[in-house]
Amino acid sequence: MKNGSPPPGKLIIFTAPSGAGKTTIVRHLLQVFPELAFSVSATTRAPRPHEEEGRDYYFLSAERFQQRIAEGAFVEWEEVYPGRYYGTLHEELERLWKRGKSIIFDIEVKGATRLKKAYPTNSLAIFVKPPSKETLFERLRNRATEDAESLHRRMERAEEELGYENNFDYILVNNRLPETLEEAERVVGHFLSHHHGGPHH
Ligand code: 5GP
Repeated sequence: MKNGSPPPGKLIIFTAPSGAGKTTIVRHLLQVFPELAFSVSATTRAPRPHEEEGRDYYFLSAERFQQRIAEGAFVEWEEVYPGRYYGTLHEELERLWKRGKSIIFDIEVKGATRLKKAYPTNSLAIFVKPPSKETLFERLRNRATEDAESLHRRMERAEEELGYENNFDYILVNNRLPETLEEAERVVGHFLSHHHGGPHH
């Protein structure tokens, strides 16, 4: 940790195989717990309609992203899709901890594994899992944007990602959304009120 940095606060890391529905859960928790703030990642992908710089992502050029990697500015980064980079900036964590927030993340499994390793004692890492492989594939198929080839790639990737569940503190099976949201509230609420920086069990 650099001089002058605020002491690290808490991290709540949500991760999942693509298609398991973690974004809905993270949005819900941000509404329930005012002490949470969303970690805004950097990315080289283009903004979607309605996305805002600094709220949804920090949108960087490929050159700028590489420069930030070289500077050591990232806690973790991944090439999530070919040529599309995503990463968590040290300065983003510092910004939110300075405001007294606990930070909530929505990131893919490899980056989440790295983040958990970087902050093993003050983080809760939750793996959101679909009830079955079939459900996951079904959800991917129903995302209308997928062409056949990218669907196949996503399925392969999702299958590989299912193998990562043991890297995390808690496995949340996303069967029926209302119950999943309730369980997420309970687990996160407990971590926020009872956990004071020791190792998490
Ligand atoms: P999208 O382009 O749909 O916003 O995100 C694509 C994937 O990248 C999602 O699984 C999302 O969770 C993940 N992602 C977003 N930000 C980060 C990040 O900072 N690091 C990593 N490793 N993955 C991220």
